[in-house]
Amino acid sequence: MTLMLGVTLAGRDVLLVGGGPVAAKRLRRFLAEGARPRIVAPVLHAESARLVEHHGVAWEPREFCPTDLDGAWLVHTATGDPHVDRLVAEQCESQRVLCINASDGERGSARLTAQAEIGDVTVGVTSTVGADPRRSVAVRDAVVDLVADGRLPLRRRRTARSGRVDLVGGGPGPADLMTVRARRLIAEADVLVIDRLGPAAEITQGLDPDVMVIDVGKRPGRHPVPQDEINRIIVEHAAAGHRVVRLKGGDPFVFGRGGEEMLACLAAGVPVDVTPGISSAIAVPQSAGIPVTHRGTAAAFHVVNGQGGFGPGTLEAMADATVTTVVLMGVAALGRLVDSALAHGVPKDRPVAFVESGHTPQQRTTRTTLGRAVGDARAVGLRNPAVIVIGEVASEHLLLPTPVASGAARA
Ligand code: SAH
Repeated sequence: MTLMLGVTLAGRDVLLVGGGPVAAKRLRRFLAEGARPRIVAPVLHAESARLVEHHGVAWEPREFCPTDLDGAWLVHTATGDPHVDRLVAEQCESQRVLCINASDGERGSARLTAQAEIGDVTVGVTSTVGADPRRSVAVRDAVVDLVADGRLPLRRRRTARSGRVDLVGGGPGPADLMTVRARRLIAEADVLVIDRLGPAAEITQGLDPDVMVIDVGKRPGRHPVPQDEINRIIVEHAAAGHRVVRLKGGDPFVFGRGGEEMLACLAAGVPVDVTPGISSAIAVPQSAGIPVTHRGTAAAFHVVNGQGGFGPGTLEAMADATVTTVVLMGVAALGRLVDSALAHGVPKDRPVAFVESGHTPQQRTTRTTLGRAVGDARAVGLRNPAVIVIGEVASEHLLLPTPVASGAARA
């Protein structure tokens, strides 16, 4: 029978008997736990010697003797000689010190588990009958996969002493374009603060009913929640001990005001982290088969907020036919943007593509040119959300060969 304990070794004296490769592996693990290891071994293998030297671990270069156990909370014996390991384990037993016996787990009083930390949970696996480390590792890895992408019920049932905020990138729409980390953080969240872009609708369907969902997005007939108020909401919930996920479309740091939310958390002393997302700036053109850079065609790309108009740097760059301009939030300002580009001498025949609702079933792509862009936008009824791509990469035939008229002879 085995009782798994979550033991805290930080600052505690751990004795390692033996200096071979197994000892080195364990030494590394104990050091990572913050333990204070000591080592007793006549000789050290290279890796143990390196760790001893590097971390200033106390080393007695001799055989084990029973007084070595004095002060130890835990002993690990891996001398390479099962007989010696057994003697060490027996000494531990008589002195009531827990002992991990590397050569024969059955003859030690403690065992290491195949362990992993994912977010704020720790998973440990061991066998109850006969050690089988490779199986334990395989089981652990399978559990880690489930935990890591949020398929296990990870939400805390008890409020933590301190909450936190995660600014999480949701990608351009479908939930399977989110990162595995994003899925896990959402599964752990007590409070989810969402807006209308990205995978919010799909994600909120599968949530625990007692997860609080706060929608701060724009909706028809409703004003969006002002940024100050969003900052206040995330900080307050985290300060109350909750795990807050601020889910954003695309990437939090690309026109997502993630920087402001981060500053608000830092100013309030709330722990905050950012999980990147797939930005529509790259992924929405991609969904229409448009690479933002393409060898020989486009060597750089500018990502612009259309509401602010084109700045002098962008207009300068647009004169260069090898630069792609990607405009977000540009639908309402399209006329003004096109006028300024044309006035700056960007050619009328520069290819333009409108990609609406990229990566969703409603996706629609319109190919046009700078000269025809405004008329074509009106003709198709261009609507948000849309990404406007200006540059040679927006040409319809960049990746798809020019269609050959039916019946035309091929060379
Ligand atoms: N942080 C986001 C961008 C937020 S600004 C990101 O990294 O993607 C909002 C703008 O993103 C919209 O006006 C639109 O230009 C663009 N956008 C976001 N999702 C989109 C989608 N699925 N299809 C087209 N454009 C999208």
